[in-house]
Amino acid sequence: MAEHFRDDSVAAVAVRIDAEHPTGLVFDPHQPQLRITDLGAVRGDGIFETMLAVNGTPRKLDAHLSRLRRSAGILDIEIPPADSWEAAIGLGLEEYRARGGVPEELAIKLVATRGVEGEPASEDPAFCGTYWAMLTPVAESTRAGRGTPLAVTLLDRGYDSTAAERAPWLLLGAKTLSYAVNMAALRHADQHGFDDVIFTTSDGQVLEGPTSTVLIAKRGSEGEPPTLITPVLETGILPGTTQGAIFTAAERAGWQLGYGPLTPEDLFAADHLWLLSSVRLAAPVERLDQQQLAVDPELTAQLNSFLDQDLPVSHPQD
Ligand code: PLP
Repeated sequence: MAEHFRDDSVAAVAVRIDAEHPTGLVFDPHQPQLRITDLGAVRGDGIFETMLAVNGTPRKLDAHLSRLRRSAGILDIEIPPADSWEAAIGLGLEEYRARGGVPEELAIKLVATRGVEGEPASEDPAFCGTYWAMLTPVAESTRAGRGTPLAVTLLDRGYDSTAAERAPWLLLGAKTLSYAVNMAALRHADQHGFDDVIFTTSDGQVLEGPTSTVLIAKRGSEGEPPTLITPVLETGILPGTTQGAIFTAAERAGWQLGYGPLTPEDLFAADHLWLLSSVRLAAPVERLDQQQLAVDPELTAQLNSFLDQDLPVSHPQD
């Protein structure tokens, strides 16, 4: 285990952003960096993004940066401008080149925290918190596992479908650092023989996975393309960039698109079901609780080839 950690960490590149280094500064991720009073560490009071870079080009960069800004707005956290994040990512890629080459696939994580209470890191509000980018080669197991059908369980998220509107302090729809609940749900699923989770509201609407967006397809009639449907955003789910990019490409290809509300019954009745996310891409679901679902490797490959086009992301519900 220790060896594994060391191997992974050697390959990671980290870049911090602060007022003195608005375009980034490479740092050693094995050395202590974060103050133990940082609110990101002690309260999960921060936000993040994870994107995929293929052959040194980040996918859906604009969509990830604009969602980072959207999350920052929901939490009322100040973050550096998009130029800073882009420059920091560029610096990280440059560091790989200097080390001998950029890995074919990188997961790029951007993190912003509120910083240390009462001690802004800078007088410039855009740099008053703690900010970094971390680039890590995508694990071989993740790459090899793409396309492997999943067994998924439905779990109650514990709030109803109006909570996002009624209780904005729940920060629903923001990509916050507070993922302990999401990770606990995945452990619960694992203990019960499932690979992943789809959250539902207490009044029976489909939300999202702990790290993914839900997508269903209904087959078209002979020779017609399928219809893709994803849950509405009003329930407080994260606007998925993978779903948005697939929808842009599918619309251009003449496919029909739809937005929920979806119920578990809609998922059981769907022809196909996927969990979508930036690094795992479109992951087909072959079992939802006790029911088997049909998987279609060709259709999954088609969705993933839509992602290869790296088209702009649109969310008509925004
Ligand atoms: N929903 C949640 C809660 C997530 O954490 C993620 C990604 O991590 C997604 C959806 C999928 O988002 P994206 O497709 O932008 O990676």
